[in-house]
Amino acid sequence: MRYDVVILGGGPAGYVAAVTALQEGLKVALVERKYLGGECSNWGCIPSKALIELGNAVGLAKSLNKYGVSLSIGGVDRSKVLKHVSRAVIKAREGVKYLLSDAEIIQGYGKIKDPHKVKIEGEISRELEATNIIVATGTEPRSVPTFSFDGERIIHNRHFFELDSLPNTILIVGAGAIGCEISEALAQLGIEVHLVEIMDKILPEVDRDLSDLIHKYLLRSGVKIYTSSQAQFGGYVNNEVLVRIVSKGGTTEVKVEKVLIAAGRSYNTSNIGLEGVGVELDNKGAVIVNDFMRTTVPNIYAAGDVTGPPLLAHKAFREGVIAAESITGVKEPLPRGPVPMVIYTHPEIGFVGLNEAQAFRAGVDYKVLKFPYVALGRDSTSVRPTPEGFAKLIIEKNTSKILGAAVIGNGAADLIHLFTVAISHRLSIDELRKTIISHPTYSEVFSEIISEASGKPLHAPKHV
Ligand SMILES: Cc1cc2nc3c(=O)[nH]c(=O)nc-3n(C[C@H](O)[C@H](O)[C@H](O)COP(=O)(O)OP(=O)(O)OC[C@H]3O[C@@H](n4cnc5c(N)ncnc54)[C@H](O)[C@@H]3O)c2cc1C
Repeated sequence: MRYDVVILGGGPAGYVAAVTALQEGLKVALVERKYLGGECSNWGCIPSKALIELGNAVGLAKSLNKYGVSLSIGGVDRSKVLKHVSRAVIKAREGVKYLLSDAEIIQGYGKIKDPHKVKIEGEISRELEATNIIVATGTEPRSVPTFSFDGERIIHNRHFFELDSLPNTILIVGAGAIGCEISEALAQLGIEVHLVEIMDKILPEVDRDLSDLIHKYLLRSGVKIYTSSQAQFGGYVNNEVLVRIVSKGGTTEVKVEKVLIAAGRSYNTSNIGLEGVGVELDNKGAVIVNDFMRTTVPNIYAAGDVTGPPLLAHKAFREGVIAAESITGVKEPLPRGPVPMVIYTHPEIGFVGLNEAQAFRAGVDYKVLKFPYVALGRDSTSVRPTPEGFAKLIIEKNTSKILGAAVIGNGAADLIHLFTVAISHRLSIDELRKTIISHPTYSEVFSEIISEASGKPLHAPKHV
């Protein structure tokens, strides 16, 4: 049987490519070695957000006491908590299956044999004829020096979200978005959390004014943070792992039930036949693609994490759509950016475009505007307010063009998309000022900072 397109990988890039190709009337086979939904539905976005929801619910319940609502939390059943997480996972996985009901889904490990042939290694080995191939194989968790995954005590995200019960103590290596999100959720659920980061600050992807605030909030929720520090495996002691945290000031030893490594991923680009057919990779192992998601072999496309950073599901969705539409002969592909990013801590962070450090490094003549949450009516009504939160706009001085935006505070995960629309469509401050935003909402952060940028602030304090 010959397919118009054979897709390797059923994660966000692969399944969205399949959905798009089906809409275009193509005959589609999707090969998945494990679960539909990929990293995102099974061990990433969905389970982590389900855990965070629970952590935040506990945080919210605790904060009610000071408003005269006395709630006592009897305790956290650590295996039941994970049941909520796995229910969310199953629902997401089933949802993907439903979307793909018109595609042929083949369980197995796919390898490209030649530009028009994919070999499936699985319970039943077979070969598929393909007019086009989309590589959407994603990434694998990667370990750090001195630690090797044992699946029990030294674990990665996939092990973590398949645990029967949450541990009493955990050390997380890597304070990027994933490390910070999981640390905070667990700490709110009453677990002892140590978070170790080799850089001198947490959240390397955001400016220091934002990461410093999250640092403060994480400490408040009980996370023990070690920056400029390296975690080293010190051996197994009874049922625990001994970890040496080596910092400039000395070495601290901690014993924990689990060590979760959240410090990097490697691309799934070896052992799938790419070298054999001449698909070129960059020096980090990601597939090189053009704006149509076409690789160096004309009928082979790639999409999602496998094409390099940012490693985000919505970037994978977009690239899946572009790859499938390219196959149908689209002349002008959808843009691949700007890609917003959200960090689901409390407070949330949303950012898009350049941050200040990037604008500085790029040598752009820019100015920064800030609007503080303390001036936001909606936040003052919250029972878990984020008064230290703010929005930040990076504007090119001579053109007044918005280069980037970041928001830290309640609602940031959603309202950042107003800025994303503005940047995507290159809308000017004058055009943006025409938009009316409801009061009181978190989205007013947008209209307030735009008013400020136009030189006519409404609620912004005079000296920010
Ligand atoms: C803990 C965690 C939290 C995250 N949270 C977020 C978040 O909140 N928001 C966000 O945007 N992103 C988040 N991400 C990132 C997100 O999960 C990824 O960006 C996204 O899953 C990438 O999609 P993909 O389709 O490119 O790859 P994947 O999701 O990795 O899918 C690749 C698929 O290919 C399959 N595969 C690999 N090789 C083969 C083969 N040879 N044959 C057949 N099948 C194969 C794999 O089994 C997998 O199902 C998170 C990641 C982690 C680890």
